[in-house]
Amino acid sequence: MNKNIFILTHGDTGAFETGSVPFEVRIPLNGHGKKSVKKKAEVYPGLLVADHKNDKIGDMHSGITGVVTEVTETQVIIKAQELAAPAEGEEPKPTGVEPVDLASLEGEELQAALKGLGVDIRPFIRRCDLLILNALNPEPGITYAESMLVHAKSTINAGLDMLKRLSPASRTVVALPTGSTAAFDGSDVAFIEPAYPNSLDELVVAKITGKEIMKGVNVVSLHMLYNLGAVAESGMPLTHTVVCVEGKNIVAPIGTPVGALLKDASIEVTDSDTVIMGGPMRGEATGDLNKGISKDTNALFVMPAGSTAPISDHACFSCGACIQHCPSRIQPNMISRYVEFNELDFCRQENINACMECGLCTYYCPARRPMLQYIRLGKHKIALEESQVAACALQVEE
Ligand code: SF4
Ligand code: SF4
Repeated sequence: MNKNIFILTHGDTGAFETGSVPFEVRIPLNGHGKKSVKKKAEVYPGLLVADHKNDKIGDMHSGITGVVTEVTETQVIIKAQELAAPAEGEEPKPTGVEPVDLASLEGEELQAALKGLGVDIRPFIRRCDLLILNALNPEPGITYAESMLVHAKSTINAGLDMLKRLSPASRTVVALPTGSTAAFDGSDVAFIEPAYPNSLDELVVAKITGKEIMKGVNVVSLHMLYNLGAVAESGMPLTHTVVCVEGKNIVAPIGTPVGALLKDASIEVTDSDTVIMGGPMRGEATGDLNKGISKDTNALFVMPAGSTAPISDHACFSCGACIQHCPSRIQPNMISRYVEFNELDFCRQENINACMECGLCTYYCPARRPMLQYIRLGKHKIALEESQVAACALQVEE
């Protein structure tokens, strides 16, 4: 077994590349009810395209100049193009939006302004005493972390200052890979051995606090902080993010099609290859190269056809490999079987929610069962069941 594949990249400080302007963006919506643009509308960078009625979920903005070609429940598609010159006597067309003065705002006003600028503020305002910035590369093959700390230092510092204004935490610790020389004013640092799965939030918390509980602790990832910092630094809407494309870090407009980003990184994809959005251990496969990246897309990988045996719902033959490697010390083999047969109570008994979704059980399973996918499905079904029970209880109380 090759243990090197679990080493998390560290010490790599290559600069980010700016992606070429894609021919279109497909801005993904997730419950954004009110669309602010219609088909054929002319848009420019920073223009609001859809807002979310939840006051903690960020609104969505265009990252490019162009014309809206489609508006659906799930996406706004914008074709990149120069806008027609104004007719004689008409006002010049806007080319951007004015920045918001975030320094003068506090409390709910600050939160509302950030939400309006596209920031999902929920991860930053959770009740906690200890705030941890997880600055390790999250998965093997992802390389942006130390590049961000070097080349986007002012953005990261602006994000950290803003995070401290939003969070109720009394102490902040930055988790870095062992050997890193990054320094942060007003925050402690802790060093973590850069080997997967040590970068998982739960394991970072255990290493720093010595306890296996998340109570009173909030963990924010470096990618999230970079997005927050980009808004905090400029006062402008969140329109771009950093995506690690097979090791190459590209700054791209939100909504850039997956296929366009792979092309930018000179990666050719055949019909039989598997494209993964996210890291190789925890990401999700997509069959749609036109799918637009979201604010949270941190990586893209391509698994060439034939490089691994295909995953399928083969039967478990009880070899125990998944149990041996599970950092949550649960029984993935049993849980996956219970999910398969919709035995949700047994899933609860086996502590399915203790799963950290590291993906190691899928990696090690010689039967090539889709273990992580089963577990995510089981968690989703349990959450759905519990929300329905809660809704019924409310009706009874009424
Ligand atoms: S994904 Fe699998 S190995 Fe990882 S914590 Fe969950 S059950 Fe354990
Ligand atoms: S690794 Fe796969 S085959 Fe082995 S016990 Fe776990 S689920 Fe079963």
